[in-house]
Amino acid sequence: MVYIKDDIESLDEKIDEEVRVCGWIIRKRSVGKILFWRVLDSTGEVQVIFKKDEVPDELFETAQRATLLSAVEVKGIVRRAQTKGGKEIVPKEVIVTPSDPILPIDPLNRTSTLAQRLNYRALDLRDPKVSAIFKIRSMIAQAFREYFTSQGFVEIHTPAISVYSAEGGADVFEVKYFDKNAYLRQSPQLYKQLAVAGLEKVFEIGPAFRAEKHWTIRHLCEFTSMDIEVAWINDIQPLLEFAENAIRYIFGKLNENGRRYFEILGVEPPKVPEKPFPKITWEEAMKFIKERGIAVEGKDLPPAGERVLYEYSKDHYDCEFIWIVDWPFEVRPFYAMKYPNSELTQSMDLLYRGLEILTGGKREHRYEILRAQMLQKNLRPEFFGYYLEAFKYGFPPHGGWAIGLDRITMQILNLGNIRECTLFPRDPERLEP
Ligand code: ATP
Repeated sequence: MVYIKDDIESLDEKIDEEVRVCGWIIRKRSVGKILFWRVLDSTGEVQVIFKKDEVPDELFETAQRATLLSAVEVKGIVRRAQTKGGKEIVPKEVIVTPSDPILPIDPLNRTSTLAQRLNYRALDLRDPKVSAIFKIRSMIAQAFREYFTSQGFVEIHTPAISVYSAEGGADVFEVKYFDKNAYLRQSPQLYKQLAVAGLEKVFEIGPAFRAEKHWTIRHLCEFTSMDIEVAWINDIQPLLEFAENAIRYIFGKLNENGRRYFEILGVEPPKVPEKPFPKITWEEAMKFIKERGIAVEGKDLPPAGERVLYEYSKDHYDCEFIWIVDWPFEVRPFYAMKYPNSELTQSMDLLYRGLEILTGGKREHRYEILRAQMLQKNLRPEFFGYYLEAFKYGFPPHGGWAIGLDRITMQILNLGNIRECTLFPRDPERLEP
C-alpha cells in the first residue's frame, strides 16, 4: 500500500515511477481536453491528470463519469506538476467504486450539522479535520499505554457485563443475560481492584456505560475510560504523580508526533506542564466558588464553578490543570477511603481547562469497613458476592483513577462537543449508526 502524504508528496524518488494510489475524488475540473481529479486519502491529496491524447478514450470517459467522493484506485506514473503538492499522477488504469451523486452530507465544505455528520460518519471521516481528531485521540491512548507499560503496569481486560453494578444508583444499563439480569459496567472499578490485589499495578483502556438521560456536551452513555489502579499506597500523592507524569508524557508525544494534525485543526498543541499542578481541597473550592456568587446545589462542583477554578489556576499558577482533593463521602462511591473519624475521603478530581477529566482516590481495603460503607450507601453487601469476599483475604491498600479519553481529547482540541471526538457516540437519542 502507498499513502499520498508519505509515499508520493514527500518522496522525490517516486518521480517517473508507477504507483497505486487509493482514495476518494474530492474535486473534478476540466480545462479543454484535460480533466483533473483531486484524490484524497487519510494522509493527503494528489492530482490525477487525464489528457485526452495521453490516456485511452475509455479511461477518459470513466474519469468524466466518476462522481465526487467515489472511491478510486489509480495506477499510474508520478510526475512533477505546477500544482499543490508539486506532483501529479498520469493514470494507466483506474477502478472506480461510485458514489451516489446526491450526498446526504457535505464533508468537503463542512456545511452539515453535527447530527447529520454523525449519521453519515463514514463520509464525515473523509474530512481531514475530522480524521485529524481521531488520529490525535489514538495518539493519546497509545501514549497512555506506553507510559504505564514503561512504569511496570500490567494491561488488563475486564468484563463489561456483570452481576455487579459498580457504583450503585440509577445510571446503570440492565441487560438480559440468558435467564439472569446483568449490568453494563459504569467503570472497570470493581474488577481493577480485584486485579490489583495480585498484579499490584494495572491499567485498562475500555468502555464504560452510563444510563444518564440528560443531554450535555460533555456526557455520553458510553465512553472510553483510561484507568489505573496501584497497590501499596498510603495516601493519594503517588496517584497525583502518576497522573501528572502520564499527562506530561502524553502531551510530549502529541507535540512530537501530532503537529501535522494540530495544524489541520488550527489548534495549538497542548503546552507540556512542567511544575506540579496546583491543588486545593474540596472545602476550599466550594468556598471559593460561593464567594464568587456561583450557585451551588449539593456537594458537587457546578460547571460554572469548574470554570472559575480554571481561571484562578491559569492566572495564579500559569497552569491549565487544577486538583480538587478530599471530597465528602456523600458524593463519592462506597469504596472511597475516608480519613480517620471523618466523612471526607482521600480522593481527587482533576480539572483541565475547566472540565473534570479525571476522578480517583484511595480505596477502602478493610473488609468490615468496606461492608459498612456499602450499608451507609444503602447498597446490599450480599449483592457484591465474590467482590466483597475477596477483601477478607489480605487485600492490599490501594488506589487509582480514571481519565475519560473522550473528555481529555475534547479539551486538548478545544472541541465544543464530546461527540466530535467519539466515532459513534451513544447518547439518550443516539443508538445508530
Ligand atoms: P461528571 O461529574 O462530569 O458527570 P462523574 O463524576 O460521573 O463525571 P466519574 O464517575 O468520576 O465521572 O468518571 C471518571 C471520568 O470518566 C470522569 O472524570 C470523566 O472524564 C469520564 N466520564 C464520566 N462520565 C462520563 C460521561 N457520561 N461521558 C463521558 N465521559 C465521562
